[in-house]
Amino acid sequence: MPELPEVETIRRSLVPLIKGYEIIKTDIFHPDVLINAGKRPLRGWLITDLRRRGKYLLIDLINTNKKHSGALLMIHFRMTGKLLHRTEEIVPTKHTHIRFHLQGPTKSWLDFEDVRRFGRIWLLAAFGERENPGLAGLGPEPLSEDWTYQSFREKIQRRKTSIKATLLDQTVVAGIGNIYGDEALFLAGINPQRKASSLSPEETIKLQDAVRFVLTDGIGHRGTSFRDYVDGLGGKGYFQQFLKVYQREGQKCAICGNQIVKKKVAGRGTHFCPHCQK
Ligand SMILES: [Zn+2]
Repeated sequence: MPELPEVETIRRSLVPLIKGYEIIKTDIFHPDVLINAGKRPLRGWLITDLRRRGKYLLIDLINTNKKHSGALLMIHFRMTGKLLHRTEEIVPTKHTHIRFHLQGPTKSWLDFEDVRRFGRIWLLAAFGERENPGLAGLGPEPLSEDWTYQSFREKIQRRKTSIKATLLDQTVVAGIGNIYGDEALFLAGINPQRKASSLSPEETIKLQDAVRFVLTDGIGHRGTSFRDYVDGLGGKGYFQQFLKVYQREGQKCAICGNQIVKKKVAGRGTHFCPHCQK
């Protein structure tokens, strides 16, 4: 599933290609993928910006006819969703669910494709984050100043769950999934099975720094591509070459040489070094 670094890479890859373009027509091949479409027309929208919140991609729109009327396309990729920019209109496949026809200096197409079809696109009012409960409840952005030591410390102290489950909880901090959660805990030297409330202040700071480091590093390597994830141009990321624990069970830990193990923690396959992570 695309996590913060992957969604951010998709965003950055699409900004120069679609910002300032107009959605002149929308093809809906699978209506269940597009939510709220009945409420607003699906053409005549100028794309003014692309933002990201947690694992959501947000596309800001203004109506080209009524100047002050705006809207927001909110996209969650879930397992296998892809948003692909094309300079030629291709024949849709059975996995092409939504197609936006774009007009700028040239014509182009933006296809939402999804093999598993869990991904969703919501059409909301301008700055309509509150219309969607998933978005309204999100915790702070980990790479922003909003994510303070104080707020993180207060949240983990109240948790009865494992620190792994706490990091995956989008209301604690937004955008972390299984890959970057495991990598951050390894870097901080913290066992994912530990109770969140057992972390010392020093460990809390270490973990917060580690989260910021792995997310930034992930963005720098254009995300992690194991199977499905690609950016808006279909390009793969290469952070998978730099992972220290994720999907490396049975291999040697880069620090101590002992075996990386995989265990179910917080309902997810969790990778860690029992020797380095206390
Ligand atoms: Zn180790």
